Formats: sequence, C-alpha cells, structure tokens
Amino acid sequence: MGFPGLFVTATDTDVGKTTVAVAIVGALRRQGWRVGVYKPVASGISGADAAAGDARRLWEAAGRPLTPQAVCPQAFAAPIAPSASARAEGRTVDEQLLVTGLSVWRESSDVVVVEGAGGLFSPLGDTLLNCDLARELGLPLVVVDAARLGMIGRTLATMRAARAEGLRVAAVVLSQVAAPQGGADPAGDDLIARDGAAEIAARLPGVPVAILGHAQPAETPAIDWSAASGAAQQAG
Ligand SMILES: [Mg+2]
Repeated sequence: MGFPGLFVTATDTDVGKTTVAVAIVGALRRQGWRVGVYKPVASGISGADAAAGDARRLWEAAGRPLTPQAVCPQAFAAPIAPSASARAEGRTVDEQLLVTGLSVWRESSDVVVVEGAGGLFSPLGDTLLNCDLARELGLPLVVVDAARLGMIGRTLATMRAARAEGLRVAAVVLSQVAAPQGGADPAGDDLIARDGAAEIAARLPGVPVAILGHAQPAETPAIDWSAASGAAQQAG
C-alpha cells in the first residue's frame, strides 16, 4: 500500500472542498496523527499573499506544520483555472512540482490530505487534470459535492468517471455550503440533503456517504478517516 492519504476532489468548483478537507484534517489530528496538508496549485491568490485562501485554512487546521508555502508551492492571481491564471501572468504551472511538492509532507507526516483545484476533470497545468495528479500521487479520492438539488446526478457522474479512470473513491461528502432553509418542508434544504445522501449511498454500496452540515466541524454519520486514508492500516 502507498503512503496514507486522501485526495479531496469535487464535482465542480465552489462546492465545499476546503471545508470538507479541514474537517478531515481535524478528525485525523484528534486521532493522534501528524497530518500533512497540500494544495498543489491555487488561483485567485495575489502574489504578496501566496499562501492565503484554501492553503491558509488547511495549514491552520493541521496545526501550522512546516510553512504555508509548503502547503501551496504554486499560486497565481487571476481567479480562473490555474493554467490559464499562470498564463495571464506570463508563467506556467510546473507540473513536475505538482507531484514532487508532496514529498516534504510525506517525510514529516503520518498521513496527507491533498485538496485539488476545481473538479475531478478540471485542469491543473497545461496537460495534467486533477484525476491525473490523484493517480500520480497514488491517493484514494474523497468526492465532495454541495448538498443541494442535483447532487445525486453530479455525484454519480463523478463517481463513474473516477472509476472509469481507475481511481478508487474512499468516501463521498455532501457539504451544506449555505445555511439550510425551508425547515420541514419536503423541498427544505435539510430534507433534500438527507434524501439525496440516502439515494447516493444506496447506489454506491461499500462507499461511505456523509453530510457535512453548514458550519459543523464534522460530517454525519462520522467516517473513519484513519481507515479511509490507510493511516490505521499503516500503523497496525
Ligand atoms: Mg477549496
């Protein structure tokens, strides 16, 4: 088995990936693991603040290990796809560094949590997609989607695409990115999330499916992230 870890990916951008990654990091730390955190590339980050945004949140969640620059070695200003963002400032994404940037975390941690950029098939560099990097790093996926209408179709499409790429999915987390509205109404956000999660779970036997409630620190039902990442097996 490879080095313990998880690659947090998503059905699309802005569906709650970082929030889910932060929750996973917190759970792993509570179980006593030294957690490495890695955001291979980020866009929408101004040059003077290279480790802001997602990388900063991951770094804080992990207890400020190493440096923010180690969390995200490549950041670009324009809030568009990283390769396009790099091009806009006359640079290119270093695809080798996307892979090798994780090494320092493997040397200093028990388990690594990697957050991709955008969705599973979003481009990272001129040739590499998120799914390609996940394969290169040898990490199982956590597929994140927003817990809102359409989650069943988006999540199942991403699952099938991941499997077609030969990638293993360790868990699905549906993230409530906004405060739930609608109370007990059948079209209320909480019921849509609960029914959607149940439907997805029924169609994905063997894959843990959970909801991360709005502003909650952990998902429900709790997923065993030590087992999902392989950290428990490595230690045992
Ligand atoms: Mg993010």
